[in-house]
Amino acid sequence: MLIIKFGGTSVGSAARMKNVAQLIKAPHKDVIVVLSAMSGTTNALLQLADYLRIGNTKAANELLDTLEQKYRTECADLGIDFVVESFFMDMRRRCAESYTPQTEKDIVANGELMSTTMMSIYMQVPLLPSLDYMRIDADGEPDMSTTLSLLKPMIEKMHTPCMITQGFICRNHTGAIDNLKRGGSDYSASIIGGLLGAEEIQIWTDIDGMHNNDPRYVPNTRPVPQLSFAEAAELAYFGAKILHPTCILPAKLHNVPVRLLNTMDPAAPGTLINNDYKKGRIEAIAAKDGIAAIRVHSDRMLLAYGFLSRIFAIFEKYKTPIDLITTSEVAVSMSVDNLTHIGEILPELKALGTVSLETNLSIISVVGDLQSNNLGFEAVVVNALRDIPVRMISYGGSDHNISILVRTEDKVRALQSLSNAIFSNL
Ligand code: ADP
Ligand code: ASP
Ligand code: MG
Repeated sequence: MLIIKFGGTSVGSAARMKNVAQLIKAPHKDVIVVLSAMSGTTNALLQLADYLRIGNTKAANELLDTLEQKYRTECADLGIDFVVESFFMDMRRRCAESYTPQTEKDIVANGELMSTTMMSIYMQVPLLPSLDYMRIDADGEPDMSTTLSLLKPMIEKMHTPCMITQGFICRNHTGAIDNLKRGGSDYSASIIGGLLGAEEIQIWTDIDGMHNNDPRYVPNTRPVPQLSFAEAAELAYFGAKILHPTCILPAKLHNVPVRLLNTMDPAAPGTLINNDYKKGRIEAIAAKDGIAAIRVHSDRMLLAYGFLSRIFAIFEKYKTPIDLITTSEVAVSMSVDNLTHIGEILPELKALGTVSLETNLSIISVVGDLQSNNLGFEAVVVNALRDIPVRMISYGGSDHNISILVRTEDKVRALQSLSNAIFSNL
């Protein structure tokens, strides 16, 4: 069994969908095809929900008109006119209803529902509805056992070599429509592939694999032919947009290789992610924005035990994960990417010491074989950043990663400089 996932740009127009249909038709064994929404649709639907939230029905209807026109054109090109009409009728009906927090989840699900319906009818391949099997728990995490117990009998009953399913969308523990967060179709593919023990999970996108630096900011980046699960997970978590932050985990747990491939250049080798680990190499650099640093300074911390656990308890109470952490005798610095509860966290931390907050920061992660016997890599990293004000450096948490916190305004300069220092002579 292969899991083949196509992202938004890969199904972004009728022409691209025809191309994807050819790739799916290539001789395979059993396949489950996971599709994202057509590119731009999820953003448009989130905007639509926002118009409804603020009560701007006129703007909402205008946005729906434009989107419907686009879908009519693409469907006509595929020879499947009016296939998505019922989705637009439903969304127009929602525009007339009062807004609730569920409205956004319901509306945004239409992106994947429409793209999969279009491909299923165009290709005459049956649909495997993800709302009937993909489940998340009360913490928003995939509920693997329930998902498997629903998915397996559905596949057995369908008894067909190829089926199309929606990425991204799921139901939560109350049974309401929900999703796996932005970019979550990769996660869907990995959850399905992991649970079913697939031979391989293929993520088809608009670039020829994981590059050694962020191609949106750095010129002349190159694809990395192979990464270990741990390295790919660090890169995805620390900003390599090509993969959803947590999507490597289910594949790693079930030891299913993940291959990143390019829809526009199917013959390119891409990147293979598996259990192999190459020693002595720095593989890639990634960056994640929207980071805040919190520092707690306390003279009472000197030689005190239990201080860190009191700090961590506050973050745990507000379900806010800490990314990086560094400590000195009298201070602790932590970085977070979720500021939802910062207004509650800061006053509680102030009971423990003097607290400062700095926002608009980015984490840069250098990923590869960074074991301590791979001598000299810290010198290369630190030297490359000699002209850039560094807020925090974290190394030693894993053997695969050194993370540096910089101001977002210095990020591109830092990425470029690291690239020159690490990859220019390869
Ligand atoms: P899809 O819609 O197929 O899920 P995404 O836009 O989510 O595609 O991911 C692919 C994009 O990720 C690429 O177009 C590229 O701009 C961006 N990207 C960021 N970092 C990397 C990286 N290290 N390697 C490859 N692509 C990256
Ligand atoms: N359509 C969703 C998004 O744009 C999920 C995905 O594309 O992976 O975030
Ligand atoms: Mg994506």
